[in-house]
This record gives sequence, C-alpha cells and structure tokens, in this order.
Amino acid sequence: MGLPWRIAIDGPAASGKSTLGQRLAAPPGYLYVDTGVMYRAVTWAALRRGVPIADEAALTGLAETLDLDIAPPTVQDGRLYTVRVDGEDVTWDLRRPEVDAAVSQVSAYPGVRRALTRRQRQIGLRGRVVMVGRDIGTVVLPEADLKIYLDARLETRAWRRYQELQARGADVPFEAVLETMRQRDALDQGREVAPLRPAPDAVVLDTTALDIEGVFQKVLDLIAARCRETSHVAG
Ligand code: C5P
Repeated sequence: MGLPWRIAIDGPAASGKSTLGQRLAAPPGYLYVDTGVMYRAVTWAALRRGVPIADEAALTGLAETLDLDIAPPTVQDGRLYTVRVDGEDVTWDLRRPEVDAAVSQVSAYPGVRRALTRRQRQIGLRGRVVMVGRDIGTVVLPEADLKIYLDARLETRAWRRYQELQARGADVPFEAVLETMRQRDALDQGREVAPLRPAPDAVVLDTTALDIEGVFQKVLDLIAARCRETSHVAG
C-alpha cells in the first residue's frame, strides 16, 4: 500500500497528532515535522530574552530571524527530535508551562505566522512529509494528498497532557493543565489568521475513545480505501 506523499495532520493539543504523525512517517524517506515546535521556540526565545509577549513587532522580528534548528534526536531521553535555538538544546524547555501559557498569543500574530508558514512550506514541498499542526491542511500545505483532523473531548486531552507531564516529573495540577488547554483552544480557534479548523477536504477523527493503535489502524484503513478507489477509477 503506497503512503500518500504529503500528509497534513491538524487538531487541538493532545488530540494524538504527534503520535500518529510519527508512526505514519516511519517508512524510510519520510520526514516528520511538528510545526508547533516552531511557535514554541519563538515563544521560548521571547521569554528567555525578556521580550514582552504583547510586543507584536518584536515577536514578528524574532520569528523572522530566529536561529532555529530541528534535527534527529541527539540524546536518548524519550525525545523525538532535538531543537536548538542559537545552538542551545531547548527541546524540553519548549514544553514548560510558561511556554504553554503564552504560545497561543504569539501564534495569533499575523507576522509570526507569515514567517513560520514560509519556513514550513519550504520544508513541506521538499518531498515526502508528514506535517503536524493547526493550519497545515488549510494554509501551509493546502495541496496535501491526505488531510486528517484529529479531535477529542477537552477533559480527555487535558488528562493525556497531565499524564505526560507527570511522567516527566513536572508537578502541575490537573485543573491548571485543563484551564491552559481550554484557553489555548479558544485562542487557536478564535484567531483571525489561520484559525484551528478542519480543511473542507479533511477526514475528521474523534480520538476520545481510541488508543494510539486504534487511531493508527483507522488511518491505515482510510489510506487503503483511498488506494482502492484510485485504482478502481484508474482501472
Ligand atoms: O502542537 P503544539 O501544542 O506544540 O502547538 C503549540 C501552539 O502553537 C498551539 O497551541 C498553537 O497556538 C500554535 N500552533 C499554530 N499553528 C501550527 C502549530 C502550532 O498556531 N501549525
């Protein structure tokens, strides 16, 4: 079964996008790209440098010029990639609660989106790619061969994120995780530029009652069905 060349996966936080994305990108030659990392890196750099998050022009400048490198993992500590900003390994810093709390404000700035969308499209058009984010199917790669939109109940997603944080030793109360996620959803869905929503031609999957294996299997079935349709039409 041939995997589509360009796969776009969108959806809210902790809907299962990155796990699905990595599994789909497992065959050799496929690149997995998590675009949320770029918005997080800009946010982290602003916090580190003391740039006020409300300063849209400064944040746009940061997004345009940031020395950001996303490479295969350099340490075996459960990471999926190593992210460097100005040469410094910030992979886990990007997951800190203060980044979570500010990233949706940063990602609503049109200039920030313009700069990062340009970087993402350059990567996405290079070849076989599974790209994960909020606006991949609608804005970054509208020509993607397969678009998937994952969703799940807010409480379920917050619980998944809470467990991830616990596993990494971060002591954040569940209610705080839930509240940050609620706010992030509202900002991501309500912004004017590239809001979080399924592309008209996306397949929407609710992962509330599904585990990783269940989601992966559903998507494989979908790809197989598409292959049959195409060969039927071609034949
Ligand atoms: O996917 P992740 O939770 O790491 O994304 C962090 C934030 O980055 C999202 O809440 C959203 O505000 C922003 N984002 C975005 N567009 C993308 C990817 C992420 O606006 N394509």
